Amino acid sequence: MTQKQIAVIGGGVIGVCTAYFLAEAGHQVVLVERLSNVAEKASFGNAGVVAPGYVMPWAAPGMPKKILSYLFKSEAPVLLKPTLDRALWRWVRMWLAECEIDRFRINKARMQRIALYSRDVLGQLRQHYQLEYEQTQGYLQLFRTELDVQMAQPALAMLAENNVTHQMVDADQARIIEPALSKNTPLAGGLYLPNDEAGNCPLFAKQLRGIAQGMGVEFYFGSEVTSIAPEGNRISFRIDERDFSADAVVVAAGIDSTRLLAPLGIKVPLYPIKGYAATAAIRNYEDAPNGALMDESFKVAITRMGSRIRIAGMAELGSTTPALHAAALRTLAKVGEDWFPDAANYNTANFWSGVRPMLPDGPPLLGATPIKNLYINIGHGSTGWAMAAGSGLVLADIVSGRVPEIDMDGLTLARYG
Ligand SMILES: Cc1cc2nc3c(=O)[nH]c(=O)nc-3n(C[C@H](O)[C@H](O)[C@H](O)COP(=O)(O)OP(=O)(O)OC[C@H]3O[C@@H](n4cnc5c(N)ncnc54)[C@H](O)[C@@H]3O)c2cc1C
Repeated sequence: MTQKQIAVIGGGVIGVCTAYFLAEAGHQVVLVERLSNVAEKASFGNAGVVAPGYVMPWAAPGMPKKILSYLFKSEAPVLLKPTLDRALWRWVRMWLAECEIDRFRINKARMQRIALYSRDVLGQLRQHYQLEYEQTQGYLQLFRTELDVQMAQPALAMLAENNVTHQMVDADQARIIEPALSKNTPLAGGLYLPNDEAGNCPLFAKQLRGIAQGMGVEFYFGSEVTSIAPEGNRISFRIDERDFSADAVVVAAGIDSTRLLAPLGIKVPLYPIKGYAATAAIRNYEDAPNGALMDESFKVAITRMGSRIRIAGMAELGSTTPALHAAALRTLAKVGEDWFPDAANYNTANFWSGVRPMLPDGPPLLGATPIKNLYINIGHGSTGWAMAAGSGLVLADIVSGRVPEIDMDGLTLARYG
């Protein structure tokens, strides 16, 4: 393999993993990040769940109806800010088409392929470097109603087909797994995935940044790439009116990737779907969760992060500012209060919002583009942390001319023709 000079644009968890694996493959790597550290945007406040067993697209059978039923409730998992943004409505149209059962099965299988691989790669990194990033083991889905249990059936069937270890549990069994789970909130059932896990994504990204720096990766913070252009066999990119060039460039700029790619004729239907997190110090440890949970009815995750509890989720469409919407914070507090009322004071939590770089169908886009030596690692949506390590390794393999260990069908730009 020839050593290349490679620039990775974006220092979220995806860019950091990409830079690490490129360096490990023997390349000379720089990572360019607009902000002052890694994992400051979507990768900062996410729920931390690494659940490849249950990774799935938001475009799922029954979802349009469920979302409509929530739109006018005061505590809801989905918020819609009225907007005439044509990109949003185009995205929604594409998303609706992907809610068909056949499309759901294809998209879920593709996502699961990269997520299961990613969990193994993450485990290898953890073991090799003895990483500690507040990880917990096990993932419990909570279904408040029979309707939620029914809606989970297509995904359940696929768990069995894919030999993913899982167990349907009743309310009593769920409380054996999570003894502090409140008895006052009705629970129709649960699904336990013992091999899924959770962990602090920015803590991991910072640790991997340190390791990558030790391998020679140079990090340029406070540097925004404003354009990219092919330059013979190389690729040039512009920062602060200065041009730089590399043998290859990997765009891993989260939601802002479209701004860099569109002028090159690479159009991807990425849309920012805003989410929220509330992080609170645990006040009673015996009343706190041990591992990660998902309130499937509200699509809100509850994660234990060391001495803190994080409640995160929500989907707000049409808002691109970091403003905190009171209704979203109410929903997060409700989920915390409903399941672990005495664990923390949710009203005094630290609140955060960030946008998921979402594609309408679900799986990310990895690998080459029509521009020679320009690669992408984008569109990881609501499960980017769960897919980061595997996506980084796949990208490094492709750039190095090696065949990735997983089948790339449906995970590349080719799926948009
Ligand atoms: C509320 C919420 C909960 C979530 N929960 C989970 C979860 O439990 N599990 C899970 O797996 N995923 C979860 N996610 C999704 C996950 O956080 C994202 O998929 C992931 O962080 C995306 O990583 P990224 O590196 O692509 O993007 P980002 O983290 O956004 O990183 C992109 C980086 O690129 C930089 N950048 C952009 N443009 C430029 C430029 N022109 N020049 C230089 N730098 C640039 C940005 O500053 C940023 O640092 C959640 C997301 C949200 C919002």
